[in-house]
Amino acid sequence: MSRFRRHTPVETEIVGVPASPGQPTSQLCSEPGCDGPDRVTCDYRDRRGTPCPTAWCPQHIVKINAWHLCRRHARIVQSLAPVEFRGELPAPDLDNRAPSLASYLADTLDEPMRKLLVELARPALGEYVASEALNLVTSVSGERRWSQGWKLFDNTGPLLRIGVEVDEKRDPECNLRLNSRVVLRFVPPWIRERRAGAPFSPEDEAERRRVFFETLMEQHVRPAVVAEERWVRRWERSPQAGARS
Ligand SMILES: [Zn+2]
Ligand SMILES: [Zn+2]
Repeated sequence: MSRFRRHTPVETEIVGVPASPGQPTSQLCSEPGCDGPDRVTCDYRDRRGTPCPTAWCPQHIVKINAWHLCRRHARIVQSLAPVEFRGELPAPDLDNRAPSLASYLADTLDEPMRKLLVELARPALGEYVASEALNLVTSVSGERRWSQGWKLFDNTGPLLRIGVEVDEKRDPECNLRLNSRVVLRFVPPWIRERRAGAPFSPEDEAERRRVFFETLMEQHVRPAVVAEERWVRRWERSPQAGARS
């Protein structure tokens, strides 16, 4: 396994997204207030073949390989592990925000999460940190959770894992999961506030998100991960450690 694995989508692996020069449309750019020329539609099709209804000007479209995509679908296409596109798992439904929300949280938290785990790792003993791709976790009771996380490995396997996840049925509620336990449930403040109709300027919004993620890391993630690391390493400090195999 390589460290900090990044997934580059491979054209032929993405089911239902045709390669195209872009489909011109007379529809306005979906960016609020934008009257940009030369709009094309988003190329994304979900597992039922339903096309994404958005259109974008050259300034607001995201190009990945030969596709023209809206930001949400660009995120999904870039984040999903290739396995999700080989038909083993269906591509997410169009109106399903869970994968892009999980992926957004994971992208934003990637640097501080890796930094925290790297602080706890002992590279001299062969320990290292790795990031996961976005993954769909299904349970026997039919829950579908989109999950992405980070792992600290020692030379025998994963020592601990921290991840963000969004259950399709509970969206926009997000979870932070540490090993098998959910340690925090939260609704991102910008989603809560948007629902309440409280608009902020782009600068204020960016600053509020920065503060939110910093607080999340320092008040919730760091204490929980540090305590968990002590717990999983507890035998190392025990005088009986040598007796265990
Ligand atoms: Zn535009
Ligand atoms: Zn789209």
